[in-house]
Amino acid sequence: MENKTSSLLRQLPAVHDCLAHLAAADGVSELPIGRLKHCVRLYLDTTRRNILEGKLSQDGALNRESFLDELVRYVHSYHKPRFTRVINGTGVIVHTNLGRSLLPDSALRNIVGAASHYSNLELNLATGKRGSRYSHVEDLLCELSGAEGALVVNNNAAGVLIALETMGKGREVIVSRGQLVEIGGSFRIPDIMARSGAKLVEVGTTNRTHERDYENAITEETALLLKVHCSNYKVIGFTREVEAPELVAIGRKHHLPVMEDLGSGCLLDLSRFGLAKEPTVQEVVASGIDIVSFSGDKLLGGPQAGIIVGSKEYIEKIKKNPINRALRIDKFTLSSLESVLRLYLDESQAIEHVPTLRMIAMDADAIKIRVDRLCRRCQEAFADRATIEARAVSSQVGGGALPEQNLASWAVALLPRQMKLSQVEQALRFATVPVMGRVEDERLIIDLRTVSEGEEEDLFASIGEALSA
Ligand SMILES: *Cc1c(COP(=O)(O)O)cnc(C)c1O
Repeated sequence: MENKTSSLLRQLPAVHDCLAHLAAADGVSELPIGRLKHCVRLYLDTTRRNILEGKLSQDGALNRESFLDELVRYVHSYHKPRFTRVINGTGVIVHTNLGRSLLPDSALRNIVGAASHYSNLELNLATGKRGSRYSHVEDLLCELSGAEGALVVNNNAAGVLIALETMGKGREVIVSRGQLVEIGGSFRIPDIMARSGAKLVEVGTTNRTHERDYENAITEETALLLKVHCSNYKVIGFTREVEAPELVAIGRKHHLPVMEDLGSGCLLDLSRFGLAKEPTVQEVVASGIDIVSFSGDKLLGGPQAGIIVGSKEYIEKIKKNPINRALRIDKFTLSSLESVLRLYLDESQAIEHVPTLRMIAMDADAIKIRVDRLCRRCQEAFADRATIEARAVSSQVGGGALPEQNLASWAVALLPRQMKLSQVEQALRFATVPVMGRVEDERLIIDLRTVSEGEEEDLFASIGEALSA
């Protein structure tokens, strides 16, 4: 056994042999020598570890030829840029793992402008003096939400953190037990609360919380009443939460501010697209909630950001918190957020141009036409390798918004003849333009609601690559 391991280790080519092989290999020979050495070391280390762990000991012989071929493939894939475009065939519109919202063209132009030119980022052009970067979006946010003040930070998690730190540090914040949620990516209300220095006071039960639960928990130490959107889960059955207007009434009675972490936060009523009615940001502000925070890149369809709107008094306090500087947004966020918000000045413009809204609004029949067309092409090209047909499926909004809510959609459904479904699924991820679909009912499903028409050619090519992998 030991002999076999050491004999395998001895058969590993030397670094200079590997480098000589790479110097003659297609596509990698022109890479900087430092990068090639780095790759060779990593590859030799991995192989050595595999030998020592007994994963490479089958017949005791290390084939030098295939080792070097594998090395070339390894260098190719190691050197490929890591951040890459992906075709979203999941039908989940705000897919956090795939980058959440796509930006409208006007926002893209603004980002390029902000990147390639100097700008008035922190310059007041009227006075020639230093200005505030936030001034570019504050008025728009106030106009759209009806709030007196607004502030933007890096993301909604940061928004909740800075609001709690400002309002509740060293004091008590009351939250319903039914709202102590964990959002994906390890954002948990109790943990954020602890980090903010505020003391969490839980009231009610998992399924039911009443007005009196808040009232009974209010003490001299209470600083804030917090309401949290349950986002990605739903308690059904015998349930009760205190709605915003009632919570505001309790706050007013005890001279306490009330905050709502709205999660997704939408400026449009989405019930017109057949989704459940959710309070819009404007409605929450109108209900009297003092501080409302929500994400820029969920249902709003903008860049990653945490937007806080509310009464002037509290917004000013939060702005002055020194942590604000550490959570500040950059010029790309700012320039793209401004253009997204401007689209919302006219609802029909927002629905037409904000991709997140456009995908929600998309009609199933229109998706079916595209699915049928793509299926026909795929059947003609790949009939020997798979059965390909149109399937009625359900898309989801995602981003923790509206769980359990489905949008009727259509998908390309692949049933490979020779390959396993899991192999096709993997091969699609490894394609030149990677594709994320899902396995459902023994088929690989690619929902075209989240694939743009401009991506269909690449999708067709990736399906072809995957089926011949
Ligand atoms: C998504 C979400 C957050 C976190 O927002 P990010 O913008 O991802 O930081 C916080 N609270 C709720 C309720 C959410 O749904």
